[in-house]
Amino acid sequence: MPELPEVESIKKIVSPVFIGQKLIKYSVNDERTNRFNTANPRNLGVLLDVSRKGKVLDFTFNDYSIFFHLGMSGRIDINSKTNKHTRAEFIFNKDCLFFDDIRKFGYIKFTSNQLKDELLQLIGPDILELSIENKRNILKKGQNSKVTIKNFLLNQKNMSGLGNIYVNEVLHKANIHPLSSTEKLNKNHWKRIFLYSKKVLTLAINNNGTTLDDMTYFLPNGSYGSNQKFLNIYNKNTCNKCKNKIDKLYIDNRSSYVCKKCQFLIN
Ligand SMILES: [Zn+2]
Repeated sequence: MPELPEVESIKKIVSPVFIGQKLIKYSVNDERTNRFNTANPRNLGVLLDVSRKGKVLDFTFNDYSIFFHLGMSGRIDINSKTNKHTRAEFIFNKDCLFFDDIRKFGYIKFTSNQLKDELLQLIGPDILELSIENKRNILKKGQNSKVTIKNFLLNQKNMSGLGNIYVNEVLHKANIHPLSSTEKLNKNHWKRIFLYSKKVLTLAINNNGTTLDDMTYFLPNGSYGSNQKFLNIYNKNTCNKCKNKIDKLYIDNRSSYVCKKCQFLIN
């Protein structure tokens, strides 16, 4: 958390506010948030575009770009007050953007526009924009992968956008057990994974993301997401397809939910 739908929902709100505004000054006040930066931009200029790849939000200026990664608990606020978790401030000519992050897994990365494409290439293709060639490559990579399908899908180098909540949802819809061996999945399994990844994430975007009971995720305008009402397996006790009891297990310390009747272990 936040995953692709949350970042996309944030993008939809910040874009119309900040595109066209001039960045007057900024500060990144936390070493950890600033950990990937060696040089900082000087000629600030006007924000030209806001885009997204996977979970990375990309603010493009004339000479440089700023990547925001929200990690586990990062949040972007507009014109709010700073608090003890505010790690960075961006003062534009009309509005201010604050980056808050309680757990500090997130980061802000400045990059020249020349280097930017190279950096974005390190992230796998965005799940909502997979070409036929992307899908073929992912399938091939999967056939040589010794990890579980859950770990494969969480690895942003393979394809980008899924985190723990939506990977549980996608595998439930696709009837695949999260501990299945990636190398044993066939074309049909992959077809279902691609199909339901798109469906699950699109629904979540339409609902402005998922706000869990901890209420850590909310939008830059202060409103909450509503996709939690549409989750089928994450944090649930019974399967909505077959009414069977859902098992909770941990894969690499991350909660996984499985319906043994609906999800088949392939290995
Ligand atoms: Zn079931």
